[in-house]
Amino acid sequence: MKDNTEYIRKQTSELLCRQTVENLVQRNFDAIYCDKAANAADFILDSAANAKTVGMGGSQSVKDLGIFEKLRAKGAKLLIHSDPNLTPDERNYAMKGQQTCDVFVSGINALTSNGEIVNIDGVGNRVSASIFGPGKIILVAGRNKIVNGDIADAIKRIKQASAPVNSLRLSKDTPCAKTGICEDCDSSDRICRVTVIMERKPSRSDITVLVVNEDLGF
Ligand code: SF4
Repeated sequence: MKDNTEYIRKQTSELLCRQTVENLVQRNFDAIYCDKAANAADFILDSAANAKTVGMGGSQSVKDLGIFEKLRAKGAKLLIHSDPNLTPDERNYAMKGQQTCDVFVSGINALTSNGEIVNIDGVGNRVSASIFGPGKIILVAGRNKIVNGDIADAIKRIKQASAPVNSLRLSKDTPCAKTGICEDCDSSDRICRVTVIMERKPSRSDITVLVVNEDLGF
């Protein structure tokens, strides 16, 4: 159907996604345009075909791809700290394992169309494994994560659109989880503790960014 809303949205967002991919490549990242989430899932499954350990960065975008069971079926040990059945010790073990796993897969909180990657973390396991350590790092960003602006705009997006929803999703006792509005809180449950801006690919890391022309995560 060439006249439906999603078709029109996809046409208009493709240009922005492709421009973002070009700028990521200029910044030394491997970057791939994915027309659909299924293309990103296939790339991850191929990349992890021989992986013994695959770490997941607690990302709704990655969860949306529906790859966990397929990776397990390939024989990979998954390090998913967000599994609600884990004990605190098991959660720590998963987070530490992510730092040196064969393949680490995570989402991105905000991606400028200039190719800068911005993430805000509470623990820091996700951002640290996104920078250095795993054999291969794959970062996934839906078109909704692209900010046509600068780093300040990217941080604003995270505080307005991403962190409040994630606070609610994680059952955090923060003002934003109740009202949807960031109050730069002092809550002991605050999830905004570490801000990482990747201006260029870190020099010793193998990082591929998948830019998906569909909405993924928050
Ligand atoms: S600083 Fe606090 S209120 Fe603001 S988005 Fe982060 S957790 Fe929510």
